[in-house]
Amino acid sequence: MKNPFFSSLAEFARGRDERRFSIEEVTRYFLSRTEALNPSLNVCLSINQNAVNRARQIDARLVRNKAISPFTGYPVMIKDNLEMEGYPTTCASRILSGYLSRRTATAVARLLSLGVVVLGKTNLDEFAMGSSTENSAFGPTRNPWNPARVPGGSSGGSAAAVAAGLAPLSLGSDTGGSIRQPAAFCGVLGVKPTYGRISRSGLVAFSSSLDQIGPFAGSGADALEALVAMSGKDPLDMTTVDRDPAEMRSGYQSTEVMGARIGIPEALFGEGLDGSIRERLKDLRDALSGEGAREVSVTLPHSRFGINVYYLVATSEASSNLSRFDGVRYGFRVKNPADLRAMYEETRDQGFGDEVKRRILLGTFALSAGYQEAFYRKARKVQALIRRDFLEAFERCDMILTPTSPTPPFAFGEKTGDPLSMYLSDVYTITANLAGLPALSVPVGIDSHGLPIGAHLIGPPWSEGRLLKMADRIAGLYPMPLPELHAGHADGFSEGGRR
Ligand code: GLN
Repeated sequence: MKNPFFSSLAEFARGRDERRFSIEEVTRYFLSRTEALNPSLNVCLSINQNAVNRARQIDARLVRNKAISPFTGYPVMIKDNLEMEGYPTTCASRILSGYLSRRTATAVARLLSLGVVVLGKTNLDEFAMGSSTENSAFGPTRNPWNPARVPGGSSGGSAAAVAAGLAPLSLGSDTGGSIRQPAAFCGVLGVKPTYGRISRSGLVAFSSSLDQIGPFAGSGADALEALVAMSGKDPLDMTTVDRDPAEMRSGYQSTEVMGARIGIPEALFGEGLDGSIRERLKDLRDALSGEGAREVSVTLPHSRFGINVYYLVATSEASSNLSRFDGVRYGFRVKNPADLRAMYEETRDQGFGDEVKRRILLGTFALSAGYQEAFYRKARKVQALIRRDFLEAFERCDMILTPTSPTPPFAFGEKTGDPLSMYLSDVYTITANLAGLPALSVPVGIDSHGLPIGAHLIGPPWSEGRLLKMADRIAGLYPMPLPELHAGHADGFSEGGRR
């Protein structure tokens, strides 16, 4: 987190306007920190070679004109499933090797138009499928808090980037928890907005009805500005909704949050939850009640089907979305195939990793004639019930609190042999995607092993502002130490790291 120049977006903007530092200086600092730590952390899949140039151009403009936004000159990293014209987008897959983007994701374009400097593109589970970043074709990212542990996933690179202070802001995507779970594992704030808030144009589709882009940041106030900047109707994504992004600012400014009614689904605090996480959440609940919040007990009876529904809906959509990677239109193609069919088959066989293949098979099966009614359509019906449960609960509470993850960051290899136990990592986060709701994970300190713990807040549609305000209030109760990180740490990494 920490850097020598600023500790928030507002402070950055002030320092810049008072000429306390140049954009080039700031850009060079983050790039050289990344250069020093990337060999051990494996956060970035590519570094933007044009970043310093862009910084210089911005500096030159700032001599004559005032900055157009707090973001002018602000360093950002983006997940490598977000397109940026002229730059590689790999989705951490071999099948996209050699592919250069022909467009820029709307969310990224909006930040660029305000003047951000993109430093690099971050590691992920291949096509955002996974919960540990171990499914990357380019090796896993390491958790900055303990290099023997996973950073979570699929946006593990973006979460680790902010945690390790390689960028003050990064973007991820969240289909079932891929922003919030790595945020919890890396001890940073991560936000998944309401479905339709931010355009998905230029985000390589995994499960289009669930995917949303969102930020990792040091505070709710910073995340808020990023959300406002990226939000709003986009003719390139029909599912975006025409709402004034500024409503999030008013939500953030409202003081009501102090007396918020916090929904507690007690069943989710029971079996299967790690003891130290349960205790910390209990501590948090007491602290919030002590400050005037009111606990309301809620039941989300259909949430227990969340994982089942998700892995039918998400794999079905993925099987269709990933059919475009056929060796013809993008990236990798096998050499000298016997015929056209062999070209398709061998390209996809060599280009995709095991987890992606598993999902394509599952999804194709769930959509196939004879099974579609029994699986896919049934799942869609239960999805509607999951959403209805939430909307009913929000008649009685302002937001719902749960843990973000059932376990602390786990060790490399611990779950790779057992896909089902990996899928359970998202048991608390998945339902917000199925219901299209905004949700975030905020750090609530570290456990006795020095590993971060996250608290998860889910709100009614379009309530990001209030959630972020609550997140900042919670963060104030649990000041985070900094992960012990320095370039020399690389030695520890190769030995499997600290305990
Ligand atoms: N871990 C979940 C999965 O593997 C969610 C991934 C995501 O949100 N992109 O599908």
